[in-house]
Amino acid sequence: MSRRGESDGRAGSPRGVILDLDGTVYLGENALPGAVEAIAALRAYGLPVVFVTNKPLEPAAAYAAKLTRLGIPTGSDDVITSSRVLGDYFARQAPRARVFVIGEPPLQEEMRRVGLQLTEEPAEIEYVVAALDRTFDYRKWNIAFRALKFHDARLVATNGDRTCPVPGGEIPDCAGIIAALETSSGRQVELIAGKPSPQMIRAAAARLKVRPEQCMVVGDRLETDIVMGRAAGARTALVLTGVSTRAEARRQPKPPDLILNNLGELAERLIENQPPGTRRAERL
Ligand SMILES: [Mg+2]
Repeated sequence: MSRRGESDGRAGSPRGVILDLDGTVYLGENALPGAVEAIAALRAYGLPVVFVTNKPLEPAAAYAAKLTRLGIPTGSDDVITSSRVLGDYFARQAPRARVFVIGEPPLQEEMRRVGLQLTEEPAEIEYVVAALDRTFDYRKWNIAFRALKFHDARLVATNGDRTCPVPGGEIPDCAGIIAALETSSGRQVELIAGKPSPQMIRAAAARLKVRPEQCMVVGDRLETDIVMGRAAGARTALVLTGVSTRAEARRQPKPPDLILNNLGELAERLIENQPPGTRRAERL
């Protein structure tokens, strides 16, 4: 007989929680309802938490500082960004590669930090790195195009999102830049580091010191957060404080394990479902 929660082959109750940021923990400069209290309760209960974001616009330290400012004390190692995952990929696969970065200064800095050489000379470029870049222009497009089309450079990207949520709406994200490069050069992107890639959840689970299938992934987007968690065998929870709706979740061939009105409900659900005898949070 298997005990409660162990019958599906996953390792009982989750042993760590992977949380999306925008639309899950906060929106703009405001924490979402219940988020601060829920994260404090999970941590008090002994469930470690790590944050993941596809946004390459700021270094992890800036997101950690923002969380801390909102009442969620966080160190920069507990924020996994798509730029960091891409940096780790280069450190393993192609250290010291010559790259052309379509991206903003924090991403360029991350690429330099791992030892890559940044260049704008098409014949020298081994990799074109595509990311959300609010200064993307024809000059950058043409450098990347020439490297990809005529010098056999490879194309990788931080994330594949069509849009990026910002206060008051959305702005175009990396998918359009990837499309511009692919369409003009005839080349295909080889790696997209951000959610829903397996590299992203592996990096987050490694930080939690557990396996991906021992995690609970919580996010507001079905096609990134939930797809990533399900593909890795993790439990998943959709929060309805961001992009995806309950109706969309129910139409999925593989819907999330939980659909929550907000992150505040997560602590109640997870802590309720811990096996008897484990430590209870003093207060929710
Ligand atoms: Mg989100």
